[in-house]
Amino acid sequence: MTLYYDRKLPALFTREEIARRVSELGAEINAHYAKSITGEETLLVVGVLNGAFVFMADLVRTLTVPLEVDFIRLSSYQDNLSSATKVVMLKDLERDVAGRHVLVVEDIADCGLTLNWLLNYLKSRGPASVRLAVAVNKKGRREFEVALDYVAFEIENGFLVGYGLDAARRYREFPAIYSLDGQN
Ligand code: 5GP
Ligand code: MG
Repeated sequence: MTLYYDRKLPALFTREEIARRVSELGAEINAHYAKSITGEETLLVVGVLNGAFVFMADLVRTLTVPLEVDFIRLSSYQDNLSSATKVVMLKDLERDVAGRHVLVVEDIADCGLTLNWLLNYLKSRGPASVRLAVAVNKKGRREFEVALDYVAFEIENGFLVGYGLDAARRYREFPAIYSLDGQN
């Protein structure tokens, strides 16, 4: 069965609600880094492709601290031998994170595997600090610990599309966030 999403259906989070939360997070982020980013330093904002591209574009436009952007692409897969879920890096960062203040921007924290892996990966490269911003925290699904610093929305569960999030590569362009399975 293919779920069909229609942008005219009621949204879980509307475009207006998203814009309001993104500006609130932006203000918090600006206040935090105003103290730690000084002189010629810049914040390195790392987006996790593909899902975070819309949130990242909105969020960086609310920031007034000097920054650079970079992207990493991660994917998780089921290892048949160990039956564990593993993370594979499809595209590495292009900037060196050593000594930098890094802000990771991700679409969703679900079971937490991806962000847990990314945090360990970044920390092994010696950044000055790492903070995490997510559009949606699916808090009922956490299996791997992740400390989230900036969260636009929280839900328990449910499959979301829109605002960068896809279902079988569709619906990323919808400006609001939709959940059709009513599990929230
Ligand atoms: P985790 O490793 O935290 O379980 O998975 C995180 C990744 O799974 C997210 O970065 C996102 O790409 C994908 N994901 C998790 N929940 C959803 C969802 O509700 N909708 C969509 N489109 N992707 C999701
Ligand atoms: Mg993702």
